[in-house]
Amino acid sequence: METNPDQRNAVIEAIVLDIEGTTCPVNFVSQTLFPFARRQLTQVICEENRKASVSAAIQEAINEWEKDTDPTSQALLLQATNQNPPSAEEVVRYFEHLIECDRKSTALKELQGIIWEQGYASGELKSPLYPDVIPALDTWKQKGITLAVYSSGSVKAQQLLYSHTTHGNITDRFSFWFDTRTGPKLEEDSYNIISQIIGIKPTSILFISDHPGECDAALASGMETRFCLREGNPHRNGGHHRVIHNLKEAEPKHDVI
Ligand SMILES: [Mg+2]
Repeated sequence: METNPDQRNAVIEAIVLDIEGTTCPVNFVSQTLFPFARRQLTQVICEENRKASVSAAIQEAINEWEKDTDPTSQALLLQATNQNPPSAEEVVRYFEHLIECDRKSTALKELQGIIWEQGYASGELKSPLYPDVIPALDTWKQKGITLAVYSSGSVKAQQLLYSHTTHGNITDRFSFWFDTRTGPKLEEDSYNIISQIIGIKPTSILFISDHPGECDAALASGMETRFCLREGNPHRNGGHHRVIHNLKEAEPKHDVI
């Protein structure tokens, strides 16, 4: 029987999890997903009977390009406007430029999503999970804890990743999916919105991430936090957040007295 409950250790009713560096190795995205999309870029854009979704992403890229004030982008556009609209090869060059400067482009994200979807569907892509992930998710679910994803990849990309893991489709574990359309991961407000949508107060939510800034923002909203320190993660210092090395160590308090 607990007589002096710690306010920062309230009963946890929901757990919100980051993906990269938390459930899936960071290098899967950087060393597998992004190079895969880049390799397929020319083929997907230049093929004769390209999908309508690819054409839509190209149009979106051209719209972004026209407003892009970056000097290299402008130089590329100047070359490209010899042909109106820009040729497929010129659009490829623009996408490659966006990748090189690590631009957060909606059109690029869209196109990468399409390419990954094809790769997952064909079985060429499978996402690796840390071995402790599924047992932890299942344990939490059995306890009646609501599980949610909050990742900077689009919800579509998150669902693709979790649909095609090396352990099969695990999307059924999660009840809510959040990406940066909910808000930036470093802002407290995003976590308040997540709490509202889930319908559980922040103090009853545990947020797990490998990024200390994200943990700070979640903590500011009132959530409990765990800083997930995995081998190969770029962030090694969790600051004042409780550090875990696998999800089993997260130990959300869930004893209903
Ligand atoms: Mg992460």
